[in-house]
Amino acid sequence: MNASQPAPVSTGSPPPRSRVERLAELLEIHGPFDAETARAEAARCLQCPEAFCVSGCPLGSRIPEWLALTAEGHFLEAAALIQADNNLPEICAGPCPSEDLCQSACVLASRDQPVAIAALARFLQEFALRHAPPVADAPPNGLRVAVLGSGPGALACADELVRHGYAVTVYDTWAVPAGFLANGGPALALEESLIQQRLEQLRHRGVVLVSGARWGETHTLQTLREQFDAVYLAFGAQQARSLSIPGATLRGVGQALSFLLPHLTQPAPPLAPIEVRGRRVVVIGGGDTAMDCLRRAREAGAARALGLYRREEAHLPAAPREYAAARAAGASFLWQVQPVAFTGSPAGAVTGVRCVRTRPGAAEPDGRPEPVPVPGTEFTVPADVVLLALGFDPAPHPLARELARLARSSEGRLRVDEHLMTSEPGLFAGGELVRGPGPVVEDVRDGRRAAEGIHRHLFQRRVNELAASETDHLAPG
Ligand code: SF4
Repeated sequence: MNASQPAPVSTGSPPPRSRVERLAELLEIHGPFDAETARAEAARCLQCPEAFCVSGCPLGSRIPEWLALTAEGHFLEAAALIQADNNLPEICAGPCPSEDLCQSACVLASRDQPVAIAALARFLQEFALRHAPPVADAPPNGLRVAVLGSGPGALACADELVRHGYAVTVYDTWAVPAGFLANGGPALALEESLIQQRLEQLRHRGVVLVSGARWGETHTLQTLREQFDAVYLAFGAQQARSLSIPGATLRGVGQALSFLLPHLTQPAPPLAPIEVRGRRVVVIGGGDTAMDCLRRAREAGAARALGLYRREEAHLPAAPREYAAARAAGASFLWQVQPVAFTGSPAGAVTGVRCVRTRPGAAEPDGRPEPVPVPGTEFTVPADVVLLALGFDPAPHPLARELARLARSSEGRLRVDEHLMTSEPGLFAGGELVRGPGPVVEDVRDGRRAAEGIHRHLFQRRVNELAASETDHLAPG
């Protein structure tokens, strides 16, 4: 949708559209809104009595209510309603897989396009960041909480706690705060300025953000437990997957994150930028990170940006909007191909990717067909730069030894009660450590629940202390 044009109004069942048409439409739907187009898009909501979009949202966001406010132009009220259920809505609206959650549940999805819920949420939160009055937090209550990790769950927990008057310190190992959110993973479409605004707001409200913490060295769990009244463990531990094929160490073969976020990723000092201007860039993988690499390579002047994916286009895991954006930037794709080696020059620079074609095999546990290499179909794609965007694997965490004393589930994850407290009183955990990897909204939900659990636990502790002090004089001297 062009910002100066009104939103299209649905008129019954449209004729079937090609994938390219749908992609173009998705790009428009997710384009930036202004006040007029936001109101028009929100007005498409049917205000369903039984709103499936709400049940599709892990946070239970009151979507029809804030869409109605948006349609009437009450943007600050609409933003406040979103914030009541979500501490980081402007951040969630970017990486949240809304196409699989609220938007896929929207009744309009089966007839035409669903309401652009995520893009509207983002518009509202950007509006609120510019126009809303500062948050009024409770006065300091004298209690201190450490939050380990600075991703969405950690920041949501800190936001809730500081509202209740806690002194909160957020620790992370990254050189730049915001954890995996700013430093890689599923949120690469997120604008850095949005994260920075949110961090600045938290700092302004008294949250201390400590970057570059070295677990087990500068900070141990034991010292943090001694210094703070409660601790929330909200970190994840992931490492980018590599490809063990001949030529993997050639110059020009690198990780996607080294290209996308060289100034943010570990280790310090920052990595040298990967130059793609005028070069033939090949990206291996089919997720959002791969799409982001392709789009940004084209925007940075790459002569060609080619994506290689081992399954068919229909099984691409990337969000449709990320795929559409990569296509719109001029990226091209080869489907059903699998790299088997990288070719190189005598000087050790990559010159191409040797591939084999695949065919769909038996269904894997996730329902997608296993890609089976077809012998004799090998060919080489020329390349000056190859970026690996193959996802992430769990990485060993330096605090693992200290965490070993905590109870675990049968899958080996930390066991917590309904308030997210681990087997050690005062030590809380959520997100990946408890559930495994998941969407950012689930991390936010955990962060909010942990803050509530911490508040409840410390309030009860204070009540017990007061009761004990009032009966001290009764104790035998
Ligand atoms: S399901 Fe779609 S149309 Fe119905 S209330 Fe939710 S956003 Fe509106």
